[in-house]
Amino acid sequence: MTTIRTTCAYCGVGCGISATVTGDHAVTIAGDAAHPANFGRLCSKGSHLGETVRLDGRLLHPMIGDQQAGWDTALDLVTRAITDTVAEHGPDSVAFYVSGQLLTEDYYAANKLMKGYIGSANIDTNSRLCMSSAVAAHNRAFGEDVVPCSYNDLEEADLILLVGSNTAWCHPVIWQRIEAARERRGTKIVVIDPRRTETAEQANLHVPVAPDGDVALFNSLLAEMRVRKLIDEDYLGAHVDVPDHFWQGLTISPALAGIDEAAFAALADLVAASPRMVTLFSQGANQSVCGTDKGNAIINLHLAMGRIGRPGTGPFSITGQPNAMGGREVGGLANMLACHRGFDPDDLDWAKRFWNSPTICSGPGLKAVDLFRAVDEGKVRFLWIMATNPAVSMPDANFVRAALAKCPMVVVSDCIADTDTARFAHVRLPALGWSEKDGTVTNSERLISRQRALFPPAGEARADWAIVADVARRMGHGDAFAWSSSAEVFDEFCRQTAFENNGARKLDLSVWAGLSGPEYDDLAPRRWGGDSPFADRRFTHPGGRARMIAVDVPHARETDPAFPLTLNTGRYRDQWHTMTRTGLSPRLSQHRREPLLEVHPLDAEAQGLSDGRLAAVRTPHGHSLFRVKVTDAQRPGEVFVPMHWTDRTSSAGRCNLLPGPAHDPVSGQPGFKNSPAAVEPW
Ligand code: SF4
Repeated sequence: MTTIRTTCAYCGVGCGISATVTGDHAVTIAGDAAHPANFGRLCSKGSHLGETVRLDGRLLHPMIGDQQAGWDTALDLVTRAITDTVAEHGPDSVAFYVSGQLLTEDYYAANKLMKGYIGSANIDTNSRLCMSSAVAAHNRAFGEDVVPCSYNDLEEADLILLVGSNTAWCHPVIWQRIEAARERRGTKIVVIDPRRTETAEQANLHVPVAPDGDVALFNSLLAEMRVRKLIDEDYLGAHVDVPDHFWQGLTISPALAGIDEAAFAALADLVAASPRMVTLFSQGANQSVCGTDKGNAIINLHLAMGRIGRPGTGPFSITGQPNAMGGREVGGLANMLACHRGFDPDDLDWAKRFWNSPTICSGPGLKAVDLFRAVDEGKVRFLWIMATNPAVSMPDANFVRAALAKCPMVVVSDCIADTDTARFAHVRLPALGWSEKDGTVTNSERLISRQRALFPPAGEARADWAIVADVARRMGHGDAFAWSSSAEVFDEFCRQTAFENNGARKLDLSVWAGLSGPEYDDLAPRRWGGDSPFADRRFTHPGGRARMIAVDVPHARETDPAFPLTLNTGRYRDQWHTMTRTGLSPRLSQHRREPLLEVHPLDAEAQGLSDGRLAAVRTPHGHSLFRVKVTDAQRPGEVFVPMHWTDRTSSAGRCNLLPGPAHDPVSGQPGFKNSPAAVEPW
């Protein structure tokens, strides 16, 4: 038996795992007591990873249509499709749609090929659906996509505001660390969420904010703190640019946030009394048509009170996926170049010189919603989807499916043979699964950890970075993609972060550069930027100052009598994304056997719904059936459904047929949490 230290496949907590291989695709899983993200803790999903490593359902060979093909034949076809499409329709007719499930090395290779060698920035990622609003907010406030906190801050805070985060279910090990700290030091916990979630049940205070009421709430808090003379004028004067007339635009209006005066006063008293305060925000804040403004409203409060860059303080965006941060760092988003750079001429020239690129892209590419729209319009004619399932996970999934069906060439790299998206693929390429991958991930607190292979590749599966490199070589770029190991890819990425950086950007991984094979193999988890990259009070904007951003309270969504309710969506504790992996574990399915429509008793009565009976949910974009759960954890007028079930697993409970494509104008992140809806008995 061999014990291998690796990292969990699921969420952005990034827990370390001690995996003991007991046989052929058999492994026992335990928490890694030495890993600084979890110190041995695991949640139910991580603990049951051993049940998901079997070969059932795996894609084991390259497939062209329904026919098994050799790698050479399949990759020749993919390469020819790229080069022919570019020759006929230009580089922007080609796109990649990738995933926070990819390792950093995979992401790096895909980004380099697309932006540096195909010559388009049309590479976007399912991380767009997860936290791109936080990225945009960081860029606006700090000049760089830097998370200011670490998990240690959560343990040193006196007050933690959890905004749009059901932490106890969605980031359980962070919740366990918060609970332990609360026991030790009496940390106060406030949950700001329309739903009384399992996390809210355990909080000191639940603030049931209206959907998209967060900007009004944080603007009100900031105005209230000014009235109480708790603005840190010295910090602002020394380190932060505040727009003219910023303060005149702020009012104390908790009613605009949908909360009563008493709840607001209780929240304001806690904020006023707690200099050590962390605001942890997640998808409830980000998945919104005003998600970027929400992030900046949160950051504004921290900057104005000087609660950033000090132990136990800061605005802390926590990511959904294990390597969402690594993807952001290499430039996996269509609106980022690489190493947290944008697309101004200097940045493009920098990338071109580092990559020795023949055809560098010229500007930002298409973000996810626009990318699939371009597929529908015939502007994108080659689409390579890696390790993700957009036929289910994108909003307006029926539209996305119709677009995929029209695309002249869809390539899917995945470890699973039959995903909802794979059904649209002309070519399927077998990728390594979690237990076979070898590389690095960056978790929500900027901790870089190794993911290590437990088993040899299944069938003919290959690493995503190696598949990309093989296509690049076939395109004639062999010298630039001549890596023979993930260690070599990681070394190149680390060198790129340091290339002509001169301390201007916080992301500088030069200490990791040049690791040889064994050094890379044994790499211990380590956080870049220390506990807080802003401890030095130097931000990345020119002049080293942060910026407060004036954010207006959004207009309320217009009511439509045909869709009188508001639909919210989210996760269950024991499922992950579209269940392609967690669905393999019988024990995880015991927690929630089917997707439930959660409805307030007043709405249930008004609509004639009964607990345990079926109801149809309709939105302007689709409809699906759910079993009803009547609960006063919902606000009246609002309903909730989980996101995981797909038509591979169920003919009902199809959450993502329901939300529309409306998205944040800055970040492009879809607004999954606030859709007009109607429900009726079925
Ligand atoms: Fe895995 Fe997240 Fe659970 Fe940790 S908290 S074991 S990273 S799913």
